[in-house]
Amino acid sequence: IKAICGQMAILIKNLKLTNEIKIENKKRSNTERELALFLETAVDLVGVIDEDGYFKKANSKWSEVLGWTEEELININLKNLLHPEDMKKVLPVKDFKKGSKFRKNVKYRYLNKNGKYIWLHIGSKYVEEENHFLVTGRDITKEMYVEEQTKKLEKAIEIESMKNEFFSNISHEFKTPLNIILGSMQLLNQSIYKNSITTEKLINHISTIKQNSYRLLRLVNNLIDISKIETGYYELQLSNNNIVNIIEDITLSVVNYVECKNINLIFDTDTECEILACDPDKIERVMLNLLSNAIKYTGEYGEIIVSLKSDGKKVIVSVKDNGTGIPKDKIGIIFDRFGQVNDALIKRREGSGIGLSLVKSLVEMHGGSIRVESELNIGSEFIFEIPVSLIEDEEVTILDKNLRDSQIEKCNIEFSDIYNI
Ligand code: ADP
Repeated sequence: IKAICGQMAILIKNLKLTNEIKIENKKRSNTERELALFLETAVDLVGVIDEDGYFKKANSKWSEVLGWTEEELININLKNLLHPEDMKKVLPVKDFKKGSKFRKNVKYRYLNKNGKYIWLHIGSKYVEEENHFLVTGRDITKEMYVEEQTKKLEKAIEIESMKNEFFSNISHEFKTPLNIILGSMQLLNQSIYKNSITTEKLINHISTIKQNSYRLLRLVNNLIDISKIETGYYELQLSNNNIVNIIEDITLSVVNYVECKNINLIFDTDTECEILACDPDKIERVMLNLLSNAIKYTGEYGEIIVSLKSDGKKVIVSVKDNGTGIPKDKIGIIFDRFGQVNDALIKRREGSGIGLSLVKSLVEMHGGSIRVESELNIGSEFIFEIPVSLIEDEEVTILDKNLRDSQIEKCNIEFSDIYNI
């Protein structure tokens, strides 16, 4: 009886357990059905990706957004689905194991079946027991497009307002010398009419007219050159030259200008000869621009040091002054085409703000680069580098010292906007 009772108890227990399992199974299949339904109706993309980068599951939203069927998706590796640049954003599994198991809001480009990429905002969670990732995503292509267009629009507005400012600056730049020229001519006219002109006055007026004509010429030259560079019509006349001579000669040619302001001009070099392929006119232009700025923004009794170094591979030229310096937040923009530093203190010496952008383009056309180090009220140092390369089978050009007159003319033009000269 005891044995029979024991067996009956087991049978009853089994029956109970079977019933419980049945109920649990029903519940489970209900939950699974609900989950499947939930996944299918979800507005987001939901899927499971194994650690080798293959989809184990993907809801229908993936197919809707990417165009691939679920079967196709399961056979494509993530490497072939993601944009090559975005592959860098995928973390290795070991990072998930040791770090946070969640990753949210990463933007990836997924390949659509039509060959175009679709931006998805992806969140993922690593499930260690299953060795796979639960992935959810949202199609943000439209948002990205709007964001991109907004950025473009903002950039266009910024450029437009910079252009407007530039044109108003430029008009002012043209107007000032023109007014001075016209004023001087009027005075000359009156004096001639009254027959009261002295030679001294005549010389004065003529020199004012000349200086301001040079200012206009410099402005026009800069504008022409910058637009030629932008449209790709500007060419360098390269020849093999001793760069040390070019830099030294042009530095010495501005001595008269620095003397007017009692500025001490020093030229320093660690080599006497470094032959490289360059366009001497353009290098002079670069130097005259940097020197005229250094003189413009350095007070009386200041100091300007031009130094040249070469390591055989590149030549490094520095123009250093102890003048007004450039505010930190403006350093980044002075090489831009419209990058005039708008400061009341500096504004009184007007300028178009295109000189340095021209300098940068000319240096870059030589394969070089330029940078500036500056501190307000301490001074500025402009450093440019040019690679040492040669034009094969070409002699070294000997610069004609008789070109001094033309150099003086270039100085007159380049320095024409320094008022107190
Ligand atoms: P600009 O014709 O107005 O002088 P640049 O392009 O040559 O134009 O210079 C841009 C701006 O950079 C200048 O307006 C000036 O504020 C600043 N700058 C250039 N060189 C110096 C310098 N040596 N010291 C101080 N500020 C400088």
